[in-house]
Amino acid sequence: MKTLIVVDVQNDFLPPKGSLAVPHGDEVIDPIIELINDPAQDWHRVVFTKDWHPKKHTSFAITHNQPEFSKYTYKSPRFGDLTTQEGTLWPVHCVQNTWGAQITNKLMKEVSKHHFKIVDKGFLRDREYYSAFHDIWKFHRTDLDDYLRKHHTTEVYIVGLALDFCVKCTAISAAELGYKTTILKDYTRAINTDDESMAKLEKELQENDVALV
Ligand SMILES: [Zn+2]
Repeated sequence: MKTLIVVDVQNDFLPPKGSLAVPHGDEVIDPIIELINDPAQDWHRVVFTKDWHPKKHTSFAITHNQPEFSKYTYKSPRFGDLTTQEGTLWPVHCVQNTWGAQITNKLMKEVSKHHFKIVDKGFLRDREYYSAFHDIWKFHRTDLDDYLRKHHTTEVYIVGLALDFCVKCTAISAAELGYKTTILKDYTRAINTDDESMAKLEKELQENDVALV
């Protein structure tokens, strides 16, 4: 059975008004609606993921009094674990129960008639998430994997925003968890679109058994 995963098509990731807008991100909305409604695709389920942060989330620059888009070293949220990870601090985005966190209306209106589920991520304050399956430490897991297994999904197709962050990480997790995984490139947009970044991304996906078509 195949499931479509639509990653983070939320107001804050969309131009012109989103606080962390992905360039040209709004261009994917109509194509994704067509893809969902295409009878030839025969989606068994459609999942929408949402970045869903509390105020003062650790990924917000303002939480640490640092400039937006600066580099930051995250410490493991697990007591006694001295592991660190490098990350980027973002403008405030996708705060729970705000306009910015809503999946764009146009998309939600179109899909109300389908079997779909919404998966929230990023709701624990002390850790960053990119993948819709788990936080960057792989300590906390969302309900996405359980949902896919319960609905007999063996194959996932991933679209949405942004290609080089949450789409990429969600796809790599899916492949690691044993799903046959494909990113549909035309239904995504990246933050970094230069040739070097794209080549690096393609290599990373290939090494992790994710198809990019
Ligand atoms: Zn976020």
